[in-house]
Amino acid sequence: AASNVKVQGIDPSKLTITRTTTPKTLVPPEELVFGKTFTDHMLSLEWTASSGWLPARIIPYQNLSLDPATCVFHYAFECFEGMKAYKDKDGRIRLFRPGKNMERLNKSAARIALPTLEGSALIDVISKFVSLEERFIPSARGYSLYLRPTLIGTQRTLGVGPPGSALLFVIASPVGPYYPTGFKAVSLETTDYAVRAWPGGVGDKKLGANYAPGIVPQLEAAKRGFQQNLWLFGEEGYITEVGTMNFFAAIRDKETGQKELVTAPLDGTILEGVTRDSILELAREKLRPEGWLISERKFTIGDLAVAADEGRLLEAFGAGTAAVVSPVRRISWKGRLVDCGLKEGEEAGEITSRMKDWIEGRQYGDEEHEWSYVI
Ligand code: PMP
Repeated sequence: AASNVKVQGIDPSKLTITRTTTPKTLVPPEELVFGKTFTDHMLSLEWTASSGWLPARIIPYQNLSLDPATCVFHYAFECFEGMKAYKDKDGRIRLFRPGKNMERLNKSAARIALPTLEGSALIDVISKFVSLEERFIPSARGYSLYLRPTLIGTQRTLGVGPPGSALLFVIASPVGPYYPTGFKAVSLETTDYAVRAWPGGVGDKKLGANYAPGIVPQLEAAKRGFQQNLWLFGEEGYITEVGTMNFFAAIRDKETGQKELVTAPLDGTILEGVTRDSILELAREKLRPEGWLISERKFTIGDLAVAADEGRLLEAFGAGTAAVVSPVRRISWKGRLVDCGLKEGEEAGEITSRMKDWIEGRQYGDEEHEWSYVI
């Protein structure tokens, strides 16, 4: 549990910076491909069981050199985060709810016997790193600097045990808007031969080991023309997540006509998305007063299919840092297509679009809000 996570101190005042002597040429913003190009530097922190965290270092972006026996290669001692830095209209750089990523990183690390750390101190040194890489963050709306904090066990041993040493590094990749030409609704295929996560498992942690097994279901879906797979759980067909995003549906109740925005509850099988949490908070703040019911509850693909048949499935979308929201057009399930409420030629529902605007408003600082962390 989160409360059991014991953080270990790092001292941001001991940060050292070694600048690159070979600065990179910037890729023109319109040519940016997600996660392909990186900035000039990286942030690096080493940890040993005997000394704890050593001072953080900003160093030129470079290869790692690790012994082939290093435990990360054999037993997947790896967890990571995904977050973004945004440039606002005044040129200031902002992180979005970075404390949430630090909390999640610590939960992930603790579960695989890797060291935890003080979130605020890591945010401090990440901020210094991001400031140094300022020229890589395009100013235009939709652009950002994707940050990838990564923690690995570096003990050189084939013995299965807690790593006695670890490395935390942060790399940064400039990224463009997920939908450069506006929303594009995606079609999903339910995966019936594999589950992403299970009770008592680690699906609620951001471990690298959770992601490699998701590629084959995605390839299978793509083979039949679907952009993503929809992860179900159990005989009942509970909807859990879509690809690597949380899933939301807007449904109208058959009896009462009550409109409901629903997503799966955090029962240990769902990644605690920062976007998911933000959508729920925004929905409670802005949609509830309009009469919406906001629910974290279990629901099945069968529920969605019935709602769709009766014209009560209003819209559906995925939610995550990369795209903010990703509208869903239809879902393939047991040989049928569940229509997710978009009209002909429409690429996103009203709630999906409004959510994107609300969240981006806070990410880019158009709306001054405590979620936005100015560095
Ligand atoms: N679910 C999974 C499995 C993910 O990998 C991600 C991306 N981190 C999300 C949901 C969305 O999380 P977030 O909103 O924090 O990006």
